[in-house]
Amino acid sequence: MSRFGRWLSPGVRFDEGAAEWRCARCGYACRQHAAGPCSECGADLDPATRRGLRSSLPAPLMRAAMRAPGLPMLAGALAAAAVWAWARSVPTGDFGWELVAAAALVLLAGVYLLRMLWAGFASNRYGRLGDCARQRGWWAVPVASIAAVAVALSPLPLHAGFWVRRGELDALAALWTAGDLDGLRARSDAVRAGRGMRVMFDADGRPLAPLDLGSGMLRPLVRPGAESEWRGFAVEIPESGFIFETGGYIYLPNLPVDTTPANGGFSPLGGGWWQGIVWRD
Ligand SMILES: [Zn+2]
Repeated sequence: MSRFGRWLSPGVRFDEGAAEWRCARCGYACRQHAAGPCSECGADLDPATRRGLRSSLPAPLMRAAMRAPGLPMLAGALAAAAVWAWARSVPTGDFGWELVAAAALVLLAGVYLLRMLWAGFASNRYGRLGDCARQRGWWAVPVASIAAVAVALSPLPLHAGFWVRRGELDALAALWTAGDLDGLRARSDAVRAGRGMRVMFDADGRPLAPLDLGSGMLRPLVRPGAESEWRGFAVEIPESGFIFETGGYIYLPNLPVDTTPANGGFSPLGGGWWQGIVWRD
């Protein structure tokens, strides 16, 4: 076990020299007992081989029960939180992976609670409840896990994912601004092969107008007489969203960032880019 692992969950130490051997059947303390029948109950005892005897110290399974959660549980929780953060790094999130990560964390929380009950039972039985509870793993593992999940559920992953894709998105925006639709289409096909983004086009082969996205769900946001603020185009992330919805980035360079979001998912990212649902069945 690593030093950090021992720091987290050293387990409860027992003085091996203080072990008392008792008859496994009747509990008679038989330190000086000669090999032969137990003087209390007649069970066959042999102190040399410890046949028929049990130690007053806990068996390996009970010692394992008293060990606080350590590196394996911490690594599992951090990995699940990382998957969750990764799934939330695209607009609207990646529902499938979010579900996998959440299920793994619920499972780990259940294992933690069961271990706590088991440890309480075992250490109490040997009068070492305090020593068992003092191990750092009991609080350090859940605190670190909760912190990691809090980061995963914050807006941080979404902004990190945008930051990673920003160069490619700005290259698409430059082509759109220049009115180079053939260039936009070619670049979109190339990006699609690389990172799974694609520019959304309408049936006439023109970039889909943001106000036509998802059955016009952004129309309620239009200020009277300000339709021109909504000139732009959308980039879909095909693997994102839930079964009936897909997320993506929307380039709206003229839309004021204080535009009130009608649906909670639609928000500005900076540089003229917004994010939210771009397709809805
Ligand atoms: Zn006995």
